Amino acid sequence: MKEILYKSTRSKEGTLKASEAILKGLADDGGLFVPLEIPKLDVSVEELSKMTYQQVAYEVMKLYFTDFTEGELKYCINNAYDSKFDTEEIAPLAEVQGTYYLELFHGKTIAFKDMALSILPYLLTTSAKKNNVKNEIVILTATSGDTGKAAMAGFADVPGTRIIVFYPDGGVSPIQEKQMVTQKGDNTYVVAIKGNFDQAQSGVKAIFGDKELAAEMDKRGYQFSSANSINIGRLVPQVAYYVYAYAKLYAEGKLAKDQKMNVVVPTGNFGNILAAYYAKNMGLPIAKLICASNENKVLFDFFKTGEYDKNREFILTTSPSMDILISSNLERLIYKIAGNDADKNNELMNSLKVNGKYDITDDMKKQLDDFYGNYASEEETAETIRDTYDKTGYIMDTHTSVAASVYKKYKAETNDDTVTVIASTASPFKFTRSVMVAIDPKYDSMGDFELVDELSKIGNVKVPNAIEEIRNAEVRHNNLVEVDGMKDIVKKFLD
Ligand SMILES: *Cc1c(COP(=O)(O)O)cnc(C)c1O
Repeated sequence: MKEILYKSTRSKEGTLKASEAILKGLADDGGLFVPLEIPKLDVSVEELSKMTYQQVAYEVMKLYFTDFTEGELKYCINNAYDSKFDTEEIAPLAEVQGTYYLELFHGKTIAFKDMALSILPYLLTTSAKKNNVKNEIVILTATSGDTGKAAMAGFADVPGTRIIVFYPDGGVSPIQEKQMVTQKGDNTYVVAIKGNFDQAQSGVKAIFGDKELAAEMDKRGYQFSSANSINIGRLVPQVAYYVYAYAKLYAEGKLAKDQKMNVVVPTGNFGNILAAYYAKNMGLPIAKLICASNENKVLFDFFKTGEYDKNREFILTTSPSMDILISSNLERLIYKIAGNDADKNNELMNSLKVNGKYDITDDMKKQLDDFYGNYASEEETAETIRDTYDKTGYIMDTHTSVAASVYKKYKAETNDDTVTVIASTASPFKFTRSVMVAIDPKYDSMGDFELVDELSKIGNVKVPNAIEEIRNAEVRHNNLVEVDGMKDIVKKFLD
């Protein structure tokens, strides 16, 4: 198999092996690691269609993580995708009104982040062993609600690791917050910040870029890594479920050989849809990549005009995991459509930092033809939840509804009847209040856990374990800091 090496999107030189890129998370120059080339799938759809999720995941990951042995990679995969998931299929497809919902929320924390964060701790600790790392690895993570919990669930009590999570105070759902502040594990730390997600993310990036701090931490026996979707160890596992979905539809006769499918992805940091783009570049027959935003529609404007402009009001919506104005993973796409040109990418990222915006060239814009961007308002998001429930009984979460709403607009505009898969990124139980109020405003008077039981009743679905667990759990974390206090609290935790 061809060895795949990684380099930063912001420098011309320097390559790393997969395990080294996973350990580092973010490059020293602030760039993201990208493979020098995107590998091609080397098994047929026919073969893939007979495989389990774990087997498909191996066929995808072996092409990227080429310095892992077969034994190492299978160890990581089999420990990640096991009975932590409440279905053997891991990522089942639900057919609703002729569209397929790829349910990515059957893991431990009932959001799609589990798909990658169940495996990341294994990839990281295996990488540490391979590279003779003696330091304890400290995972720093900014979260808009789902990553933090999923990362902690993955890393809790994993020997040789600690995890510190920052979330925007007031910027996550009540269930999300309860999930985080009740997190168990002696190596977990949770901090609310007086700011929004972008500030949390920028704060974490600044800590990563702080060489003095890194040296001090090294002396104390620590080194930082990232569980955010900027880590290549998160991106690659996400490619697997698009391949799995295609193979599954093929197995069920819903897709013929080489027939294309569209994917619709509710997008925030651009990690999930970038994984679909990678899958397409690996040779998976994907037609359109439909990028769905909520009212923070910076990506919709970008696909329309070629200008990325984050200078706008930050809106808190009912799909908080997508309340993001700086989509970090977009940098990987920018680098690629600039012809893998680190200088050009640097220029644009610098402009984003200084002016809060950048413009891509016409040539770059032409390469975005496979993308379609649109957004859903809060009303549209609620309306789609209600309408789908009324007509079919299927209850989707607010993020998935943003995607379904955008897909409706796409269909109305194009009449495209290509088989379509919508990435369903969270269980409705994670956003119970918004979902139930969308179905009927009368529910707003009920308590959070009463609503959980009511959702279970009207949707005829069992309350997930992830929710049962936090019903009566004690609060273990109670930290609130200013944005510029992030570094100090990290130092305090690691004293
Ligand atoms: C993180 C998240 C998203 C956005 O995914 P990105 O990879 O950041 O684009 C969408 N929905 C849910 C439920 C999420 O947790």
